[in-house]
Amino acid sequence: MFRIAEAETKLAHGQSADSNNATMAQTTLLLQLLLLVVAVAASSANQLPSNLTQLDANKIPQRYDEAQLWRIYNISEAMQQRVPVGQMLEQKFGGNIWKENSKFLDISIARDQLKAARSFLSAHRLDPQILSHNIQSMIDEELLEGIQSSSFGHGRRTKKAARSSMHWKDYHDLETIYSFMREIRTKFPNIVRLYTIGQTAEGRDLKVLRISENPRENKKVWIDGGIHAREWISPATVTFILYQLMSDWENQPAHIRGLTWYIMPVMNPDGYEYSRTTNRLWRKNRSPSRRAQCSGVDLNRNFDIGWNGYGSSTNPCSDTYRGSAPASERETRAVAEFLAKRKYNLESYLTFHSYGQMIVYPWAYKAVKVKDASVLQRVSSLAAERILQKTGTAYRAAVTHEVLGIAGGGSDDWSRAALGVKYVYTIELRDRGAYGFVLPPRFIKDTALEGWTVVETVAQAIGPSSSG
Ligand SMILES: [Zn+2]
Repeated sequence: MFRIAEAETKLAHGQSADSNNATMAQTTLLLQLLLLVVAVAASSANQLPSNLTQLDANKIPQRYDEAQLWRIYNISEAMQQRVPVGQMLEQKFGGNIWKENSKFLDISIARDQLKAARSFLSAHRLDPQILSHNIQSMIDEELLEGIQSSSFGHGRRTKKAARSSMHWKDYHDLETIYSFMREIRTKFPNIVRLYTIGQTAEGRDLKVLRISENPRENKKVWIDGGIHAREWISPATVTFILYQLMSDWENQPAHIRGLTWYIMPVMNPDGYEYSRTTNRLWRKNRSPSRRAQCSGVDLNRNFDIGWNGYGSSTNPCSDTYRGSAPASERETRAVAEFLAKRKYNLESYLTFHSYGQMIVYPWAYKAVKVKDASVLQRVSSLAAERILQKTGTAYRAAVTHEVLGIAGGGSDDWSRAALGVKYVYTIELRDRGAYGFVLPPRFIKDTALEGWTVVETVAQAIGPSSSG
């Protein structure tokens, strides 16, 4: 039996979180100074690297002081055709769309645009409900809670420094997630394989773990997270699923042990790190575009299915920019090529997002159900029932286009259309908008358990491979 060692206490005991923040700030300052020294040295030795000749605006942390999160109901279809409200708020008032569906629009508005945006809405007889009065304080509280919960309350520090620092009391950076994956590979050399399936525009590795006792014959399940950078609960859930699988592998039931699992906790590492260091609400990847000030492609609009259709943008500055061509992005290509080679026996494609508490299945790119929709509905409804029993959280099982609107280029649709995968689900984890993407760390464990419940239910529906 394999246990993940208790998380190493990163911060010394007895030190207050505030003084730690101060220490961290000092460390950051020191690092910046050091970088400056290195840069000056480099410039005197050679030419000054072009990225250091001017301050890079993309690296100044984005703040959301007194920015508000609004929910706008009652946008009529007629109005949406005449004045697409989300688009208008985005373009005229710098709004940042969090969620848009047939019932409501969630959008954040910066402090200095609140008045203007509000009068624009009242001119159209719309009255926003305020979900948050200060997004920056939500972000600050999320950070503080994570630091506190992962540094206090441990009985003891772990003895061996080499032990994993993984836990689910806080969100982790990419390196912690990758070392957790390496640790699992090391502990289970016979059944685990770690792949690097490509690199991002910023040079980070794209990593996938395979767990299998019989790769040739087993039916396969793919699980990914972190396609959208700011949906931090997604990689947290996928790493938890990995932990659930491996913490007691020997005693897993046949319908779990008899499958081959492909697990990719972070499909968009550049975006994820950017959302941790610079802009908490970043969604896309970080590839440069023809419009220098607007980088990034929405990877979940970049897959080669319905790419040229509804629900994505041709504007590089938009959060739903689909890219210059289908699979134009390294992340998309790496995953598509990896899976295309392994489509034999690939029974399930599960992709974790947030937020909304939904389990949805194809199609998203057109207003049509797949022909086996009743099977997909039955399995997702069962998962939702089990979640309700386990944690008391209500998830909705439905067809994607009905509850999230039509959108092309999604990885879920692509896996069904291009590879013929049967159990294709997008899971929108917690919550329903109270915190949105900025879900406080105290909710990670239960939310991750909900994700695991979906995985268990789907594995059961697939059943053991014929070979046993
Ligand atoms: Zn998402």
